[in-house]
Amino acid sequence: MIQFNALFAGFLVLFAAAALTRYALTRMNIGYLREHGHIVPEAFRDEIDGATLARMRDYTVESSRFQSLETLVDDAILMIVLLGGVLPWIAGLIEAWHLHAVWSGVLFFGILYMVSVLLDIPFSLYSTFVIEKKYGFSTITPQLWLIDLAKSIAVSVILMALLFIPFFALIHWLPQSWWFASWVFFALFQMLMIWLYPLVIAPLFNKYAPVQDETLRERILSMAGKAGLRAEGIFEVDAGKRSRHSNAYFTGLGKSKRIVLFDTLLATHSHDEIVAVLAHEIGHWKLRHVLKQLLAMEAVAFAGFYLVYRLMGWPLLYETFGFAGPLPYAGLLLAAIVLKPLAFFFTPIGAAISRKYEKDADNYVLGLIGSTRFLAQALKRLAKENLANLHPHPAYVAFYYSHPPLAERVERLQAMDGEEVEKVRR
Ligand SMILES: [Zn+2]
Repeated sequence: MIQFNALFAGFLVLFAAAALTRYALTRMNIGYLREHGHIVPEAFRDEIDGATLARMRDYTVESSRFQSLETLVDDAILMIVLLGGVLPWIAGLIEAWHLHAVWSGVLFFGILYMVSVLLDIPFSLYSTFVIEKKYGFSTITPQLWLIDLAKSIAVSVILMALLFIPFFALIHWLPQSWWFASWVFFALFQMLMIWLYPLVIAPLFNKYAPVQDETLRERILSMAGKAGLRAEGIFEVDAGKRSRHSNAYFTGLGKSKRIVLFDTLLATHSHDEIVAVLAHEIGHWKLRHVLKQLLAMEAVAFAGFYLVYRLMGWPLLYETFGFAGPLPYAGLLLAAIVLKPLAFFFTPIGAAISRKYEKDADNYVLGLIGSTRFLAQALKRLAKENLANLHPHPAYVAFYYSHPPLAERVERLQAMDGEEVEKVRR
């Protein structure tokens, strides 16, 4: 049975505070959009008309409402699971088999993973085949959706086994220092994934073909060369078979990069715009944003592992949530459940750093290709195609946004370009 002690009360307060904050931010954001959403921002006048603006508004409201509902259901399920003693019950079933501690842990997380996959299915179906379809994004067939689901379960199961078997083995054999060893292991695993993901996992879901357009290839290669980056290849990915959302990115460690362009981006953007979007991405690399964010993540993970280790050694944690005694896998999950609402309140710090990096990468574009005009143009078109929210609430932006709001960003890029032209004239 769960114990209503100070620890549980503290957890409930934190959990409720996080849920209420999320809810309040979403409400404020929708309210703000209703109030200002009929005005096309100055910088977007040439690209967006009233009808598109209305669709942007409806899409934002509908998708954020649905997201809120999903979070609410997730929170409710977690509460039912905790209060109903479901976790100690599952642990009891597993313990009755008297497996090795490593296999018990893997089995426990395996069961939870499968349950979470099943619970997610109705939400994924509604979002993909109702909302995304209604706004003309979704192009995926039910067959492909099913194949994707099967593949992603297979990949997750393999990755989880590769992660959790060594992890529980370390807990078993190094009871005092596993947290440090696991942290090192996770960091190495992450590096390996950054390298392997584009080569092994991503091709399971999409076709990556070298970009055929010679002129575009030449332009991208010469720009990358100018920035000191070695393009290992420029690929076009068939993202359009799932959705019309468009994007570009690159992957890889060190100087050599695989540049990936969505076929949807290639179809709707000019060469100038694509080059400008990639110049921004090169900016992130050149200014070491990717490295800094990776290091920051490892620092947070270091603190996280230590905290989890301390929490797992605390008998009260198990008693509170209805466990008869300490079990490593239960402790790991309970520590994660307790720390999650706490971590939520640190979201704005990461978001603010990311927004600063985005500005810096935008500034870098000006130096690399001499103009920010085409990036502004590309962002306007991306906003229109992706039905972005042009009127987010400032508090919502401060809390969640990894990029500056689009209107602000485009206005800034256009002003920068103007200044540059002025300088040249003088
Ligand atoms: Zn960026």
